[in-house]
Amino acid sequence: DEARHGGVVHALLVAALDRVSGQEEELGRLDAVAGDGDHGQGIVRGLRAAVDAADRAGSHSGDARSVGDALLSAGTALADAAGGASGALYGALLGETGAGLRLREGSSVDTTLLADAVRSACGAVAELGGAQRGDKTLLDALEPFRDTLTEQAHSGADVVPAVSVAALEATKAAEATAELVSARGRASRLGARDLGTPDPGATSLALMLTAFGEALTG
Ligand code: ADP
Ligand code: MG
Ligand code: MG
Repeated sequence: DEARHGGVVHALLVAALDRVSGQEEELGRLDAVAGDGDHGQGIVRGLRAAVDAADRAGSHSGDARSVGDALLSAGTALADAAGGASGALYGALLGETGAGLRLREGSSVDTTLLADAVRSACGAVAELGGAQRGDKTLLDALEPFRDTLTEQAHSGADVVPAVSVAALEATKAAEATAELVSARGRASRLGARDLGTPDPGATSLALMLTAFGEALTG
């Protein structure tokens, strides 16, 4: 039924929106510990816009060009609608992953192709935010996702299980950010108030990636 709706990217983003919406208040609560408390609202608003954009763009074949175009549209819409630090970063993540896939027109999206695109998107997110691993940002979940996806590609795993395995690593890494003190963004201005609380952006990213894995698994 993907073909009757907006295609695979739309289906993945619908699953992510559903999962993140269920945690909207909790994400706001995490962000209120050392930030301004708007992360849940922002990311839900952004994902709604991304879902609509992916629906309009469609991605009815598994071709890298079609999937990439839909991700690119979704990323732009997310960044515009979400606002905030995370909106721009999530927008770059989706958009740059899409841009990487588009270059491979004529190929179907396999684990190696996806891992390569996520790798370059990760670089764009790091550059945009100026954060490094350990600064307690969404990069602390994104980099383990990227690295696990690359390992999965090297071991010849299919893309569907590979995304789920990598999402599990991102989830563990997001939970582990509770032990860190923020060095980037608003939360860094308040000393160690956030020690013991996981990073909201890492947490929402892990929720999203988990939803992607589940939606792909069907
Ligand atoms: P804002 O801080 O503008 O209100 P959000 O509350 O939506 O934005 O998002 C906060 C999240 O954004 C943080 O938990 C962190 O994961 C991420 N973040 C903030 N600044 C950066 C940065 N410079 N690099 C990477 N991620 C960042
Ligand atoms: Mg905030
Ligand atoms: Mg804000």
